[in-house]
Amino acid sequence: HGRRKKLMVTAYTDGLDLAYIRTLAISAALPKALARNEFHLVYQPKIAINAGSCTGVEALLRWQSEELGWIGPDEFIPVAEQSGLIHEITAWVCTQAIEQVATWHQQGHKLKVSVNFSANDLLHDTVLTTFEEQLKVHHLDPTYFVLEVTEGAVVENPELTSQRLKSLREKGFGVSIDDYGTGYSSLLQLRDLQATELKIDRSFVMKLEHNVADQTIVRSSIQMAHQLGLHVVAEGVETERAAGLLSDWGCDELQGYFYSKPLEPHYFMQWYLQHQAQ
Ligand code: C2E
Ligand code: CA
Ligand code: CA
Ligand code: CA
Repeated sequence: HGRRKKLMVTAYTDGLDLAYIRTLAISAALPKALARNEFHLVYQPKIAINAGSCTGVEALLRWQSEELGWIGPDEFIPVAEQSGLIHEITAWVCTQAIEQVATWHQQGHKLKVSVNFSANDLLHDTVLTTFEEQLKVHHLDPTYFVLEVTEGAVVENPELTSQRLKSLREKGFGVSIDDYGTGYSSLLQLRDLQATELKIDRSFVMKLEHNVADQTIVRSSIQMAHQLGLHVVAEGVETERAAGLLSDWGCDELQGYFYSKPLEPHYFMQWYLQHQAQ
């Protein structure tokens, strides 16, 4: 009996060690990733219901580490946030996304791009300064860019965050509240946020056709957002049925595997040209 108890304790601490060692390995490899060019962006189409076509994309970060192999953003972004390296990474993402948009615009495709910002990025001047400098370099208008900020970030520091968002909005940037429905923001906070867009979290959208409670939540979120003058995007649209329900309810843009997974720029352009032609 005593022996068995000891074994369980060992197994438990081993589990902890593994997670800890993984985090340590990621924090050690992460600072080299930028210099070694191990990051790249993929782009997922967003379909505008009115236009019936793709008018914008979300840029999503990918990391192929020399030491650790492929690591998803859900795993390394929190580590980068902890270490403060996130600001450098976000600045890199912005620069890269701006270059990509400049290329598309030169080719005659006036696409918009959404970029993910971490909570503290908004409170960090150099990230926004880099962003605006790069826009000037490429003669691009801020209206082609949407900053996605999670609802959670906003709830943590409402005053300063909404002040920053307001000034971005006044410059013409789009501001999206990402993962809406997971951060428990109040209606008052939403109203004061100065956002232009509400992005309904994929956890409500993915099981939409099977879950009546999710249908109620999504449908009333769309209504409420429209009354507040916000553009509404649903992410995690995986089926035709979900797409149908969302467009019936007046959702403005849809994003998800039903249309396309995130794609490398070359494959995105192939997809885009095929779907624009129809
Ligand atoms: P997010 O901003 O909510 O991004 C949407 C995630 O949903 C992406 O995962 C995307 O690949 C995935 N997705 C898209 N359509 C579907 C679908 O139909 N079904 C399902 N199940 N998933 C779908 P990804 O690329 O692994 O990114 C995960 C998270 O990592 C992002 O969630 C975002 O919070 C963070 N992230 C990604 N890139 C960046 C970045 O450049 N900067 C920052 N700060 N965070 C990033
Ligand atoms: Ca996002
Ligand atoms: Ca999201
Ligand atoms: Ca997320």
